[in-house]
Amino acid sequence: METKYIFVTGGVVSSLGKGIISSSLARLLLSCGFKVTILKFDPYINIDSGTLNPYEHGECYVTADGHEADLDLGHYERFSNIETSRANNITAGRIYQSVINKERRGDYLGKTVQVVPHITDEIKRNVKALGETGRYDFVITEIGGVVGDIESLPFIEAVRQLKWELNRNCVCVHLAYVPYISAAKELKTKPTQHSVKQLQELGIQPDVLVLRTEHEVSPEIRKKIALFCNVEEDAVIRSIDVPTIYEVPLMLHEQRFEEILLRKTATAYTGEPDLKEWNGFLNHLYNATSEVRIGLVGKYVELQDAYKSIGEALLHAAVYHDRKLNLRYISSEKLNDGNVKDTLKELDGVIIAPGFGQRGVEGKFSALKWCREHDMPTFGICLGMQCMVIEFARNVLGLKEADSTEMNPATPYNVIDMMEAQKAISNLGGTMRLGAFNCMLQEGSIAARAYGKMLISERHRHRFEVNDDYRERLEAAGMKCTGVNPETGLVEVIELVGKTWFVGTQYHPEYNSTVLRPNPLFMDFIRAVLEKKNN
Ligand code: GLN
Repeated sequence: METKYIFVTGGVVSSLGKGIISSSLARLLLSCGFKVTILKFDPYINIDSGTLNPYEHGECYVTADGHEADLDLGHYERFSNIETSRANNITAGRIYQSVINKERRGDYLGKTVQVVPHITDEIKRNVKALGETGRYDFVITEIGGVVGDIESLPFIEAVRQLKWELNRNCVCVHLAYVPYISAAKELKTKPTQHSVKQLQELGIQPDVLVLRTEHEVSPEIRKKIALFCNVEEDAVIRSIDVPTIYEVPLMLHEQRFEEILLRKTATAYTGEPDLKEWNGFLNHLYNATSEVRIGLVGKYVELQDAYKSIGEALLHAAVYHDRKLNLRYISSEKLNDGNVKDTLKELDGVIIAPGFGQRGVEGKFSALKWCREHDMPTFGICLGMQCMVIEFARNVLGLKEADSTEMNPATPYNVIDMMEAQKAISNLGGTMRLGAFNCMLQEGSIAARAYGKMLISERHRHRFEVNDDYRERLEAAGMKCTGVNPETGLVEVIELVGKTWFVGTQYHPEYNSTVLRPNPLFMDFIRAVLEKKNN
């Protein structure tokens, strides 16, 4: 079949959950048996999310091919089970960079280079490149930002042109907000009408409207919106708040969302989406009665999006163990040896978060010392794993000033350092070790048991490493390096012997945990936590 293009735009306000709607649509079309990919255009000038502070856009998500992406790509993967790549997240910065590079090379043969057609052509080229691989029936594209923003104009213009060129093979789903005014006890449709008008002024007639609301939308309101916005009544979909984002595909399916899109794109289909597994997950989620209490020790406690994938990976694992996840964010900046016991003692397990820089690191050491000495199941991820090594070197090996050269370049005991091979790469400008790398696990280790195989591949985002010079001493004292990169010998996994579950990974296992395929190490962590709790 010809590739169909679905664009998802947003109006009225940001944070309506375009990423969740796009992901849910991908889930539904996949469940119908179609081949789907999903990408996001971010209208900002940054080349990627790598340099963005988590306060700006939440977590930086990393794809298997090493792209530092917007966190929505995490939703795409968790809902769809499809591995995304650099081609699935394109910023305005990358579009402009590519056009400017072409201009410098003389590719435009002396022409004046302009937003229309050159920037818009570059945008279209990127969307169509995915379709032209011949691998997909549907390419779903989310346009970041809100319709009417100055910076998203070239993207909207590209959608307008594509709709014109591709006709029924291209549709637009517009997500708008219907606020409830409590004083009047009324839902208000005007903001939705205005945002559709704005889209129409830019030359786009939305084919489907999704109304985000906190209250039930009556048939009259739907009718009114349909009439004012030139959208068929059954194509006005309600998206009311639900207890979990994973319920959204079902809510949309009840309103025949996928059927409407198949009709709008003239796609022949008679079956029903197979949502058995998805429903199975939700059944576990809703039927869980007792909870598992996990503490996440990190510096961004007031900003839970900073640890989005960890939260979701924990949820997946908890659900499959029939537990409600009670996740508490613990500020590493406020933790110290004096208050650590009171803060952690009610928990069943602890995660030491990834991160960069000095802020809050000392609190992670306090947490780790207490967890190690009290056999608290503990999972250190990236910086969290590095902190496990430093704390162990300080308090068990007696190397009091042990540190990472990231925090203290002058430390006499650089147990975490940049390895020679990495320094050479840094000089060439690629300063981070990014994306999926192989890791060979040691037989009999917790990790090998958890994954059920010896050779795994997991994603990375870091500069520093366990210093090989200290490996022998760490291992002799009980901190085993149970996972190693087979090509470079870099340490990927450490485990403390004699403890219930004290494991650190240099990689980020949270990035590849999905609803239908939870990450094995998170699964094993929760299993161990519950086993300990039950004893
Ligand atoms: N800051 C550490 C490093 O660069 C860890 C990074 C992380 O936790 N993602 O190696």
